[in-house]
Amino acid sequence: MSAKKIVQVALPVRLRRLFDYRVDHLNQVPHVGARVLVPLQKRKVVGVVCASRETSELPLSKLKAVSRVLDDKPLLPKELFRLLLWAAAYYHHPVGDVLQTALPVRLRRDGPSEPKPLYLWRISDAGRERLDTIPARYAAQRQVLELLVSADESAVPGKSLSSTLPNAAAVLARLEGQGFVEKVAADLPGSPPETEAAAALNPAQQAASVALKGAEGGYTPFLLDGVTGSGKTEVYLDCACRTIARGRQVLVLVPEIALTPQLIARFERRLGSSLAVLHSGLTDTERHRAWWCARQGSAAVVLGTRSAVFAPLARPGLIVVDEEHDLSYKQREGFRYHARDIAVKRAQLADIPVVLGSATPSLESMANAANGRYRHLKLESRAGSAKLPKVEILDLNRLALNDGLSAPVVGALKDCLSRGEQSLVFVNRRGFAPVIVCTECGWQALCPRCDARQTLHRRTGRVICHHCGSQASAPSTCPQCQKETLFPAGEGTQRVEEALVRIFPEAAVMRIDSDVAGPSDEIAKAFQAVRDRKVDILVGTQMLSKGHDFAGVTLVCVLSADQGLYSLDFRGSERLFQQLSQVSGRAGRRERRGAVLVQTAHPEDPAFARLRQHDFAGFAKEALSERKAAGYPPYVRFALMRAESTQSGAPIRFLRSAALAGESLASRSAVEIMTPVPSPMERRAGRFRAQLLVRSKDERRFHRFLEDWVQGIEVSREAARVRWSLDVDPQEMY
Ligand SMILES: [Zn+2]
Ligand SMILES: [Zn+2]
Repeated sequence: MSAKKIVQVALPVRLRRLFDYRVDHLNQVPHVGARVLVPLQKRKVVGVVCASRETSELPLSKLKAVSRVLDDKPLLPKELFRLLLWAAAYYHHPVGDVLQTALPVRLRRDGPSEPKPLYLWRISDAGRERLDTIPARYAAQRQVLELLVSADESAVPGKSLSSTLPNAAAVLARLEGQGFVEKVAADLPGSPPETEAAAALNPAQQAASVALKGAEGGYTPFLLDGVTGSGKTEVYLDCACRTIARGRQVLVLVPEIALTPQLIARFERRLGSSLAVLHSGLTDTERHRAWWCARQGSAAVVLGTRSAVFAPLARPGLIVVDEEHDLSYKQREGFRYHARDIAVKRAQLADIPVVLGSATPSLESMANAANGRYRHLKLESRAGSAKLPKVEILDLNRLALNDGLSAPVVGALKDCLSRGEQSLVFVNRRGFAPVIVCTECGWQALCPRCDARQTLHRRTGRVICHHCGSQASAPSTCPQCQKETLFPAGEGTQRVEEALVRIFPEAAVMRIDSDVAGPSDEIAKAFQAVRDRKVDILVGTQMLSKGHDFAGVTLVCVLSADQGLYSLDFRGSERLFQQLSQVSGRAGRRERRGAVLVQTAHPEDPAFARLRQHDFAGFAKEALSERKAAGYPPYVRFALMRAESTQSGAPIRFLRSAALAGESLASRSAVEIMTPVPSPMERRAGRFRAQLLVRSKDERRFHRFLEDWVQGIEVSREAARVRWSLDVDPQEMY
């Protein structure tokens, strides 16, 4: 006989607490991990049960009752539920919001947990027999039946018929009424047909595979550190197939679906229909279905971007995080989790191996490999006959630039064209020119809402702020001195593209940056054009540095490497090195050895010598010892409190009071509270911003401090006057 009369429910609100509701009117206490519909003020909201109790701090009569139980079984598997509670505690984020993040939109609302079954259509025996008797004037009906006949024995989803015939749904309904077609429930992804044979592994891949095989039984984190083009994907696939053969599921995280088409295509070819892909392009229904397939265990592999780290798995067996250094794994607003770090924790809770792969691992992971917490697997040479490219550093102090291009860069592009090979030109900024200046009085086009300059986009004749998106038409005369002495300074992708078209009129030049690329399939199309050799020179921003495999690209030119070098962020040089190594890795992935040209005004920087030798390990070692000396992560834990307001002094005032409130607590916890400062870009989109760094060497005590501190701040009067957030393990210090 259960005496539990109360459940504690996580609700989709911004408060870091649970809410008590009565369940003594129900026959059964709802399960932990199940959804319930509960009254909240005047609304009804969906919450998740986190615990059940006998008593509440409030008398029973003061509590409201659960209106309805939505799931008769826990919706979230126990392993995932524990992970989510851990994440809420670790990131000091409201647990209700964390649980919401993990649920597909459909399940955040009142409704059944199971998605509507997906039906497929097939022609009936009667339809087959009477196909010829259908009069020619019923063209649509005939067409549908013929399509179904041509599909042979296999049933067809209505959606694929609609793509040929817009009114397919209506026609199918009519044919069903006549008994000519029938509906069958679609099988969820089934057992994995190994559709493509495994490629033979080279000795380095083989060694990695053996190490992974030895760890199949339990939690072991691996860092798979392989130079670009070394064939990490083969190792993932090998390990994934073995995991599936043991009856377990594999979770694969990728930075961006559109930017990793090859990896997905290879998983698809090897694993066929048992792959569920979770990404932002899915409709709510599709997402719900994919989530459910993962939950039921019918999807052998679940592949997705950042939030897929919270995909439910019936039988977790392996987690893979590809390009683990990628910044897109860090959520930048709201619940600011890092999917890579969550993946490692998840593997630990589920007691399974996790593989973090990268050619340029994050320094955090390098440190974990160095201290033995992660097992370090290396793939040090490129697969097949491909060699690493030759890197040449060009000193901008000795070279003249025209539209951002030095003579050696133009010469190399010309040679590359004459050999019929492709090249890639990497520019830091989109737009035409990063700034318009008046050569007479020094006026610059500044954003009215941010502490930032506006970028000239010449084709549209507008100046745009890349921080808030505000725009205006570009002035033709100087607004300050009224002279016609405005000059576009610096180079953006548009300007470089224009220059290249002028210099090489016979070449096919294509530009790809976020101005050109709208939806992700557009990017995918552009990259396909490069692979199909329809493009000679591709100009673009960092987008180009992600893991594409362009067989025909043998030359990569980096027009300015200096932005990251003297960045405000202590991670600036790490990011720069990763980006340069990644973009260099695009060159010469086949027989021909590639070349990389890097223009810089600081050729003496030691990072460039490392880059020339492809010595990421050496760079990482040096950078880590600098971080250790300076007291930076991963040796010291950081958390950044940010505040913003339309009132100029309010954020700093709030942070000062927060710092004061934490003072005595901090000194007892070995935590250091720094002085609140305005953000590097103090004004953005019309809001003033400030930040406060807290840090500690002692992780455990740090988190205890943060918990108490944040709870106090949450209920303080000052907190209501600003928009504030806490970022644990911030990846960007602004
Ligand atoms: Zn002027
Ligand atoms: Zn702006």
